[in-house]
Amino acid sequence: MGWKTLDDMELSGKRVLVRVDINVPVENGVVSDATRIARIVPTVRDILAKGGKPILIAHFGRPKGKVVPGLSLRVTVPALEKALGCKVRLIETLEGAENLTEEARAADVLLLENIRFHPGEEANDPEFAARLAGLGDIYCNDAFSAAHRAHASTEALAHLLPACAGRLMQAELEALEAALGAPKRPVVAVVGGAKVSTKLDLLGNLVAKVDTLVIGGGMANTFLAAMGLDVGRSLCERDMAGTAREIMARAGAAGCAILLPADVVVARELARGAPCEVVGAHACPSDAMILDAGPQAVARITAAFDAARTLIWNGPLGAFEVAPFDAATNAAARHAAALTQAGRLISVAGGGDTVAALNRAGAAEGFSYISTAGGAFLEWMEGKELPGVKALEGA
Ligand code: ADP
Ligand code: MG
Repeated sequence: MGWKTLDDMELSGKRVLVRVDINVPVENGVVSDATRIARIVPTVRDILAKGGKPILIAHFGRPKGKVVPGLSLRVTVPALEKALGCKVRLIETLEGAENLTEEARAADVLLLENIRFHPGEEANDPEFAARLAGLGDIYCNDAFSAAHRAHASTEALAHLLPACAGRLMQAELEALEAALGAPKRPVVAVVGGAKVSTKLDLLGNLVAKVDTLVIGGGMANTFLAAMGLDVGRSLCERDMAGTAREIMARAGAAGCAILLPADVVVARELARGAPCEVVGAHACPSDAMILDAGPQAVARITAAFDAARTLIWNGPLGAFEVAPFDAATNAAARHAAALTQAGRLISVAGGGDTVAALNRAGAAEGFSYISTAGGAFLEWMEGKELPGVKALEGA
């Protein structure tokens, strides 16, 4: 891989500009979920251990190039200090960062105020980037989740200073490389969720790269309808029928097997504990909705996992938020976790609802890697080049 890690850098006595993602949820002025903060700890600790001075750069919300007091990163300081076990000092302005006070010099870690307060950040403005570069000696990007954006702190900085990936970025890139770059075959991908239209690029890239593509969730309905089956009142994009057929044809040409549910769980309403039944995929009553994959479908999916060495998963197999329509997702997820724990499968999953579904199934811990990067994860899976990663490769 063409990027450096913290192991390749001489950090002693150096100011290290670290781009992190600490865009955490806040309730009543307090960080309500510190997961993202916990994930930057290895990078910051390693820099400190190697004698460097971390200067954290992060965004918070969408201030759109203006100072919005309600979007100050100050609210994250207590959570950062707790997670890092050291003194963190917020530097409110670039002038302040250029002329550090005695007190700021004494702090272990500096945190620049919300970088998106500056219009030059999202504009990837060269002058702004040069000014940022002047604040440090080394650039370390640990924000994979922001790597699909070419902003001053995610892209331009990598060209202006000696640059490397942080530990989280490194772990994410290594997991993705193992899943889709040079994977152990056979590779099975699960693509589920609501709509085909939001995942066209993903499906197109995967059919060319994986051996088996499991299609589930609402988007399976679109494929079933495109094959001429009646899907009743199911969530279904009828205008995507041609696209669905095209994806199936491309899969056929590339030698990728597509697995659609042979049986489905149908109900008249999407409500907790609603009366439901299992029917063949060809037998959805015209007044019912397909809300989950059936037991036969699950058996075929878990058999595909058994035969695979690598699994990539984005999108739940059913309307998992509402029991019992979480059954297929839960069963498949737990099977994948068990295979992974037995050393038989490399499993990588990502996507907002997917991570929630795997957590709900109690399966997330068992996966090889769960990406919390959202949009960046999807763009990587779609085969797109991420500007933040590309800039590191050139560095
Ligand atoms: P992710 O955020 O992981 O990329 P998506 O946003 O694409 O996933 O899809 C998740 C949504 O798809 C969930 O809200 C889930 O309820 C919905 N969904 C899955 N299967 C069905 C279905 N058969 N009918 C209606 N909604 C479904
Ligand atoms: Mg979603």
